[in-house]
Amino acid sequence: MKHKIWLSPPHLSGKEIEFVKDAFDQNWVTSLGENISEFENGLQEFLKDDVNVCVLNSATSAIHLALIILGISLNDEVITSTFSFVASANPIAYCGATPIFIDSEKETWNMCPVALKEAIEERISNGKKPKAIIVVHLYGMPAKMDKILKIAEEYNIPVIEDAAEALGSKYKGKACGTFGRFGILSFNGNKIITTSGGGALVCHNQEDKDKTVFLSTQARDNAPHYQHSHIGYNYRMSNIVAGIGRGQMEVLNDRVEARRKMHDFYVELFKDIEGVEVFSEPSEDYFSNHWLSTIIINPEINGKTREDLRLAFLEENIESRPLWKPMHLQPVFSDALYYGTNVAEELFDNGLCLPSGSNLSDEDRLRIQIVIKKVFS
Ligand SMILES: *Cc1c(COP(=O)(O)O)cnc(C)c1O
Repeated sequence: MKHKIWLSPPHLSGKEIEFVKDAFDQNWVTSLGENISEFENGLQEFLKDDVNVCVLNSATSAIHLALIILGISLNDEVITSTFSFVASANPIAYCGATPIFIDSEKETWNMCPVALKEAIEERISNGKKPKAIIVVHLYGMPAKMDKILKIAEEYNIPVIEDAAEALGSKYKGKACGTFGRFGILSFNGNKIITTSGGGALVCHNQEDKDKTVFLSTQARDNAPHYQHSHIGYNYRMSNIVAGIGRGQMEVLNDRVEARRKMHDFYVELFKDIEGVEVFSEPSEDYFSNHWLSTIIINPEINGKTREDLRLAFLEENIESRPLWKPMHLQPVFSDALYYGTNVAEELFDNGLCLPSGSNLSDEDRLRIQIVIKKVFS
């Protein structure tokens, strides 16, 4: 059997181990040290816009802390995109709050501003104003931030940007993750860069960052003994893990370029195949890191479904995966409110994520090409 081609494997630079070794040599192995501050500095320089970044043990923790700092609590309502990974919605439940799911629009597959406005107005007329909006930039594609921020401002609702998949993406030249009151980044093993597992909360002032550090390290008051006036969490990133992040920062631009080249490869490959659309930026305003390359297959045009292609890949030991199953269709959220039509549902029915790693070889690409040509010949 030929080696497995994964959807989105880690791609190390080789530098990571040096930073990790430094941490060992200096005996800085816990949640303090140079790797943490330098990884945070590196992210701040990359995102620009004068942000304050706090690195944590996951993006899921980052969303949870953002909700806590915004004061989300029992029975509050929080709006989020239905078309996402479950980690965008789970932290809402951690707070005892209720998620409200919004459909996608067709251009970016992200939160539909029309459905968002409808949801806010209906919830307000029901006597309950949503307390926050978590907007996701899925597969690296920026959401329609101008429209979403305008609506959020109109109703004075804070925005949390889930940019877990969108490090390196930009909307109108501004980095995803820097638009909202808070931004979220992920360094999970399958993301564009990885620390094995990790995340970050992007803040816009030192006060929010200090709160994030405080809450993520068990909320210890300033006293010689252990004194606590708040509920805390154990969410901070360790200095070892941050060393991996420092090594990854050195190649982040290369990784974005390589992922975008994978997208170009699929655009070229599918250009003569009718009924298959490679998901691409709708205009010059959008710059996607193309974390994952994805396609929509219209089964009415050539009789092939996304399952036909997925299974053909599987036979050749190549991983592909259906698009995210919308949250309002998940058993765990079956009682949740939903606003929109069937855009996300149709994307789920007909869409497929293709191998998108930044470290695929020409030989890997040839194997992928042969399967696609065979299925659609
Ligand atoms: C991966 C991901 C997360 C969670 O990231 P972790 O670091 O694994 O907690 C959240 N939201 C989206 C959209 C993701 O893809």
